[in-house]
Amino acid sequence: MPRPLLPQTIAALEREFTVHKLWEAKDPDAAMAQIAGLVRFIAAGAHAPVDEALIKALPKLELVANFGVGYDSVDAAAAARHGVVVTNTPDVLNEEVADVALGLLIATAREFPQADRYLREGKWLKSAYPLTRGTLRGRTLGIVGLGRIGKAIAKRAEAFGLKIAYHSRRRQADSPYAYYPTLLELAEAVDTLMLIVPGGAETRNMVNAEVLKALGPNGILINMARGTVVDEAALAEALASGQILAAGLDVFADEPNVPASLIGLANTVLLPHIGSASVHTREAMGQLLIDNLVSWRDGKGPLTPVPETPWPRA
Ligand code: NDP
Repeated sequence: MPRPLLPQTIAALEREFTVHKLWEAKDPDAAMAQIAGLVRFIAAGAHAPVDEALIKALPKLELVANFGVGYDSVDAAAAARHGVVVTNTPDVLNEEVADVALGLLIATAREFPQADRYLREGKWLKSAYPLTRGTLRGRTLGIVGLGRIGKAIAKRAEAFGLKIAYHSRRRQADSPYAYYPTLLELAEAVDTLMLIVPGGAETRNMVNAEVLKALGPNGILINMARGTVVDEAALAEALASGQILAAGLDVFADEPNVPASLIGLANTVLLPHIGSASVHTREAMGQLLIDNLVSWRDGKGPLTPVPETPWPRA
């Protein structure tokens, strides 16, 4: 375990396995060298990347259990080449992340954090908070990535009266929403973009200056996916120049570092990657990570392998 998970998840893991807690070692490299020939599993997470060099350095490695549904910090293609299975934690966080997505959309459109600051600064005593230009009324939400979480977001957005469209690589035959084969076409058709695709090379900077321009002056961008999906410099520029109205971001390209250009803008709402971060949901994610490891150890295969390392093996 390169980085700590929840204390109760660590305790539960220790009842089943010998756990080497690398973050506790004075010299993590030396500790790693000592156990390299023994390690069968890695309990990985966003801040503990697993690259091909690490996979190669562990000859007995069988499975990388990733804490989180997004596993862009694990080189799953390399794992597949070396016969190592990768698991993630899908579904148990769908509702939690979708709640935050809608909360962030409303907070961004109706300026909740800005209004909260206004009150705390005593400005309300002098005058009412200015009317917001942003509203959910009449909006069309373009969901980028209509997967497990995207669908949970769509369900909530429908209840709020939003029209819904989506973009992903494939049209979903059973979906009632309008499909756009390219992100640019979707951005042209809607005024609100909700990003909830995986990170990684394929989606890097897919929201660029051209897409933001197409979104237009009433445009709101919400990023619940990964910071890498957005060209952050182009976004700061589009927000500062009024090319789009506002942005709500839960994720950033170089967490926990957030560009000063985004922090300095009045029309951004910035969250420290809290999509799944409740005790309830993080415990459920920890349990699914453990269940994968236990199932594998007991010879029953992984419960939630990622598509790159299917089970039974392709
Ligand atoms: P799913 O795999 O269920 O859905 C992903 C969706 O993205 C699919 O609809 C897929 O459709 C689409 N997609 C994948 N690649 C591309 C691409 N290159 N271009 C366009 N669309 C693409 O994943 P989940 O819904 O479970 O999770 C989605 C992501 O949300 C995670 O990978 C993670 O990055 C992020 N996340 C963020 C959290 C937070 O705290 N902010 C918490 C949890 C997840 P198709 O295959 O047809 O393209």
